[in-house]
Amino acid sequence: MYHENGNGPCWNIDPCRRLKDQEIQEVMEFSRLLDDQGELVADDDIREWRSNPKGTISISSYYAWLMHDQGQIIPPKFPSKYIWNKTIPPKISFLVWAAANRAAPTLSMLSRRGMTLVNSCGFCDNSEESVEHLFLHCPFIGKIWNHFLQQLGLIWRHPNTVIEFLWKWKLKFSTKPFTFLRYCLSFAIWWSIWLERNDILIGKKQSKKTLSSLILDIKMLLLSWTINVDSFKNIKLDDFVFDWVNSFRE
Ligand SMILES: [Zn+2]
Repeated sequence: MYHENGNGPCWNIDPCRRLKDQEIQEVMEFSRLLDDQGELVADDDIREWRSNPKGTISISSYYAWLMHDQGQIIPPKFPSKYIWNKTIPPKISFLVWAAANRAAPTLSMLSRRGMTLVNSCGFCDNSEESVEHLFLHCPFIGKIWNHFLQQLGLIWRHPNTVIEFLWKWKLKFSTKPFTFLRYCLSFAIWWSIWLERNDILIGKKQSKKTLSSLILDIKMLLLSWTINVDSFKNIKLDDFVFDWVNSFRE
């Protein structure tokens, strides 16, 4: 409720019971908070959604608010064309799409959904397994990324989130070897570490794969996608496995 005093309208806090001593301080702070909210007008109160300049709520503005609230920066357009490409098997595109939407079933996501579990990254044992950690910031996975970035002669720093990564990394599809490999690289890395991560979690294996073994998995997966690409027809298997620097760098 507000009322007029000599200086214009102001809030009138009129508690319906006598305040206890310890509540007086809280009411004073509340009163100060109300005073800080700007000048009061005598118009009727209306609901206003501040994330939309029009003041009305919409699905898109609510989605934008949710994404910003979680520290994500929304790209101008969701990179659908990059994710859903006929070269990449749909199950892999789906994983990347889920990761971009922070919906991949990582341990952090499962624990947010109420599952009781030990949330620890199976690769470094040093952090919770969030989608950002697993896909971008895990120091062990970082070594895999560094290997390929170095081989392709790329200077790259991961952004905070997968969606930002996709937006910044995305490039037009091309069958030229360098662009093709760069285009497919994130899918191959993420799919290979996802399979290994599942094996580690389920406890199917006696020991974890080494870094070089995972890198080889990723190369073999990429190789399987080059079978119908003419520009790779003359590339020897040895070069594909051991000599990216001379074979694919631009
Ligand atoms: Zn980790």
